Amino acid sequence: MEDLGDVKERVRDRWKRCRQVLRWLEEEWEWHGDPIELVVQDFVPDDDAGDCLGWADTDGNRIYLSRKNIEGPSHAIETLLHEFAHMTLQDEKRGDYHGRRFHIVAGEISDAYEHHGFEDSKAFPQR
Ligand SMILES: [Zn+2]
Repeated sequence: MEDLGDVKERVRDRWKRCRQVLRWLEEEWEWHGDPIELVVQDFVPDDDAGDCLGWADTDGNRIYLSRKNIEGPSHAIETLLHEFAHMTLQDEKRGDYHGRRFHIVAGEISDAYEHHGFEDSKAFPQR
């Protein structure tokens, strides 16, 4: 039987790892604003159906991740990369947009993460 303490520790680590990847993303994409705050809570704000995984609050400079809807560490990272793509599009006033331009940016971000970000991000603080 797995110790419940170990399980809790792993879950905590998942969000720390997301913060580390977020610091890497800011550097890789030359983010000029203040550091983006990562907020983890049961459900993301403004989600009537309660089934959203994450939400980019481009005005508040925050990314929310849903503790209830995200299934595991890689799902958490995947959601973070998606929300970060929304953040990078805020200058184009396309925060909630999911069209062609979004998928190009989101694809570049996820390719960079798979290619070298997975390793490189480990050098960043988990805050
Ligand atoms: Zn989206």
